[in-house]
Amino acid sequence: MRWLKRSLVFFVRGAEEVPCPCCTEKLVVIGSRERKVRGGGGELRRLVIRRLRCAGCRKIHHELPDLLVPYKRYESSSMEQVLTEPEASVSVCAETSTLRRWKSWFQVLAVYFVLALQALSARFPGVASRLR
Ligand SMILES: [Zn+2]
Repeated sequence: MRWLKRSLVFFVRGAEEVPCPCCTEKLVVIGSRERKVRGGGGELRRLVIRRLRCAGCRKIHHELPDLLVPYKRYESSSMEQVLTEPEASVSVCAETSTLRRWKSWFQVLAVYFVLALQALSARFPGVASRLR
């Protein structure tokens, strides 16, 4: 817990109960871990996210807030800005090679994201209408 004393830390806690994405069983909190994220201006933030274990399949998941993209170090809003407004790339404080990697990463996975959202919409038909 030494890292807790070094700088400002944000604790992430979801208000809703989310089922296991693999088997839809209940997730139980088993601890937490630190996760760093960079904002559009290059500032580093430390988050403490919860570790959850599935009661059914025993897999460990992490509760990620909307501002995080799994396995990426920058906030989702920065990545979205670069991907949707190419001229705004200059306002995000990241290396040119990083911006290029985001674009190629998104081009490869865009079809997968669309199909995953369609599958989720078919699996949970009432959820999409509640989000509007
Ligand atoms: Zn599970």
